[in-house]
Amino acid sequence: MKFPKVEKIEAYTTERLFTVGSSVSSAAASAAAPQRDSSGRELAEALRESEERYRMLLDGIQNYAIFMMDAQGRILSWNAGAERIKGYTSDQIIGRNFSCFFPPEDIKRGRPEEVLRRTAASGRHEEQGMRMRKNGSRFLASVTVTALRDPAGNLRGFSEFSHDLSESKESGAKYRGLLEAAPDAMVVVNQAGEIVLLNVQAEKQFGYSRDELVGQQVKNIIPEGFAERLIADGTRTATEALAQQIGTGIELNGRRRDGSEFPIEIMLSPLESAEGILVTAAIRDITERKKSEEHLVKTVGELKRSNDELQQFAYVSSHDLQEPLRMVTSYTQLLAGRYKGRLDSDADEFIAFAVDGCNRMQGLIKDLLAYSRAGTNGKVLHEVSAENALKEALANLRATIDQSSAVVTHDALPAIRTDETQLTQVFQNLVGNAIKYHGAEVPQVHVSATKNGGAEWTFSVRDNGLGIDPQYFERIFILFQRLHGRDEFEGTGIGLAICKKILERLGGRIWVESQPEKGSTFYFALPETTEK
Ligand code: ADP
Repeated sequence: MKFPKVEKIEAYTTERLFTVGSSVSSAAASAAAPQRDSSGRELAEALRESEERYRMLLDGIQNYAIFMMDAQGRILSWNAGAERIKGYTSDQIIGRNFSCFFPPEDIKRGRPEEVLRRTAASGRHEEQGMRMRKNGSRFLASVTVTALRDPAGNLRGFSEFSHDLSESKESGAKYRGLLEAAPDAMVVVNQAGEIVLLNVQAEKQFGYSRDELVGQQVKNIIPEGFAERLIADGTRTATEALAQQIGTGIELNGRRRDGSEFPIEIMLSPLESAEGILVTAAIRDITERKKSEEHLVKTVGELKRSNDELQQFAYVSSHDLQEPLRMVTSYTQLLAGRYKGRLDSDADEFIAFAVDGCNRMQGLIKDLLAYSRAGTNGKVLHEVSAENALKEALANLRATIDQSSAVVTHDALPAIRTDETQLTQVFQNLVGNAIKYHGAEVPQVHVSATKNGGAEWTFSVRDNGLGIDPQYFERIFILFQRLHGRDEFEGTGIGLAICKKILERLGGRIWVESQPEKGSTFYFALPETTEK
């Protein structure tokens, strides 16, 4: 679109110029009045025609506000574009000072005067800034003010060309649709930290209407952490400052109109536009996420506390139970030794039950103690040979192996950074079970290890025993859960629970693969943390 060049307009007398577009052409009329002869009338007529043409030309420009001011900033002319953009009719605005287009805070800072001063000094001043419409709403305007001087060089006034940037093709039409389609609140901010555009979600989230927010400092809705990021400092340009933030979610606080604050996550992206770099911020309300995070942390804390208490309780009670139990056991054993055959047969049987009960209770307490200690000894981990740990376990199982004639074989096992005593305990429980839960054949147990994906070692203990129904694969690792009665196999149902606890403490896990009658393979994985 072409605009009349101001320099050209200056060729006309300033006084005439000032009446362009206004309804009153008194200046032109008075200038023409003394001309009584016909050539004077013709000149006046020509001038009027030329003014009329200019008025029509300027009024035809709808997208630009074009108006003239006197040297003090009082408005002298007004085109249709100005009426459309700023909302005043020419009757309402002519004669008023152009400072009424500035937001109150800018008026306070003396911005209108500054604009005129700068224009007078340099002849022409361009800026982007917030302006107010008649209805009080704000918009980002691109403004060019030009000083108008008479041929003698005296300042006679100013012309202003401005347009509403939020209406411009680029920042308006192109982005508005995109913004509205976004599920998050979206706010577009200029380098001065002023909100230029926003979508409906942003209005809802912050509790403002669009007009109240456009032109506001973004600090009003995001008090900290955003506006600072837009500002370049001595070492970085605005683009660099921004580049550091692009694509990273920043957790900040948002402030609603009613002053209440809520947690938000914002993502920034720059928008190179004719008006300079604008920043689009996608703003997500993370109140719910924060709440559930807090809830989770609280629950985990409570769980840990109750777990610690339970552990402490299990330890203390099993430890304290040992003492009276020892007394009961030794006295029942005394009774059995001294009175066996001297009372009636019922008494012998009862005493035998009591002795058996005591032994079982002792076994249970011993295992419970082992369980409650399993996760808590907090030893420093060393690089140990898994093969040595297995040998140690087999030595502890020597009697069981001999009694059952079991054959235990193994592949080469790796060195691994772990707790040797606990690794021994795991091997001992698994190999012990593999022998204990045997079928008709002589128990055969094989231990091996494979590197699993580079970060873990997976150990396996395979037997040819009774096997396990898959429905119990999870259950057997729970404290006191047994698949076999005491009359079939001795046991407390604690061994696998101990293994699970130990392995989890070491950052590993345990599982089983098996089929009834087909033997079982217990696997456990440990992180590979050897320094080689
Ligand atoms: P316990 O051996 O004292 O009963 P565990 O926790 O070591 O306790 O084992 C739990 C249950 O898992 C056992 O009672 C047994 O039924 C089953 N189980 C464990 N290891 C094997 C195995 N190798 N073969 C078959 N069943 C097994």
